[in-house]
Amino acid sequence: MSIDPYAWIESSLSTIHRADWYRFEQTISSIPGAVIQLEGRTVINFASNDYLGLAGDRRLIAAAVFATEEFGTGSTGSRLLSGHRQLHRELEKAIASLKQTEAALVFSSGYLANLGAIASIVGKRDLILSDRYNHSSLKNGAILSGATIIDYAHCNLTELENHLNQHREKYRRCLIITDSIFSMDGDLCPLPELLDLAEKFHCMVLVDEAHATGILGKNGAGSVEYFNCSDRPLIQIGTLSKALGSLGGYVAGSATLIDFLRNRAPTWIYTTGLSPADTAAALEAIKIVQQEPELRTQLWRNIETLKDLISQQLPNLKLLPSESAILCLQLKDAATALAAGSKLKEAGIFAPAIRPPTVPTSRIRISVMATHEAYQLEKLVAAFKSLL
Ligand SMILES: *Cc1c(COP(=O)(O)O)cnc(C)c1O
Repeated sequence: MSIDPYAWIESSLSTIHRADWYRFEQTISSIPGAVIQLEGRTVINFASNDYLGLAGDRRLIAAAVFATEEFGTGSTGSRLLSGHRQLHRELEKAIASLKQTEAALVFSSGYLANLGAIASIVGKRDLILSDRYNHSSLKNGAILSGATIIDYAHCNLTELENHLNQHREKYRRCLIITDSIFSMDGDLCPLPELLDLAEKFHCMVLVDEAHATGILGKNGAGSVEYFNCSDRPLIQIGTLSKALGSLGGYVAGSATLIDFLRNRAPTWIYTTGLSPADTAAALEAIKIVQQEPELRTQLWRNIETLKDLISQQLPNLKLLPSESAILCLQLKDAATALAAGSKLKEAGIFAPAIRPPTVPTSRIRISVMATHEAYQLEKLVAAFKSLL
């Protein structure tokens, strides 16, 4: 037996290598956009969550610079101590107005918003029902809460109802948690039917709109708006770091819920308030989302163009079902996906391999942006062609 108590780390790491699960960062040296500099190579970017191209938008940059000049680089404390600025309140009001909710609360990331919200509203005597494909932050929020967790098969409401019939009565509160657009698959949760079930069984619902905000719905509010469910009781989570091009997360819901979280959510109370730059950039992004629906129109046009090109030129390609800007090409294993990712990179396309344990089956994941041009989508399809 080794006497080095840290020796296990190296052997664990070599297991990760053997499974082709090893990961590392790739350096981007340009401003975010449809074309970037990746490890010294110019590539078309299909790997970004910056769906509307706002992360490199001059107006967000100007807002962040102005806020930094005005309020400094850091917020210097937690929101309840020295970390609160008027900008935070303005951003929270803007989120609530976009989401058509009474109130909203800004967290330092979407991940922390999920951990804090879930762990505050349920506990040991409660039940969580969780879609098997949920994002890591929802799953870990559920674990942190101490509630009993039952996973149901992806978007399978029949199975969800069976679990509710079988188990709901044994618990005090019940919370159903789900992504709206699933982050690694791109499909959409059947929210209205899920809300009907929740109502029938007296459950709360928490929906994570990370990949839907700015993309779905007439005003870009997300799937809740898209499905006309803004009036139904539910808890909405989201991030400022995807279509909104900044950093941070939020919870949107009733004024009572938000007031409660301000007093109970440890990942909000015991962490530093969002920086002035991030806050101001997100506020500017929400204005743009509301004032420029043409950005969203362009994104959806690009998604349709890409789907059309693929079905015309590569009818046998195995794409996962998608109702979003995320399109996934399913591949047989991690090694194949990795090889495909590096071949695409050689062809000037940045489209990463997503492997277990992030997802059950390996794939190439494509994110379409509003700022992609038609020839860039064509180049992607051509690269897919030579791959197969
Ligand atoms: C990205 C993501 C998060 C985390 O948001 P961050 O602001 O990046 O921490 C949470 N949920 C889902 C579904 C996501 O895709």
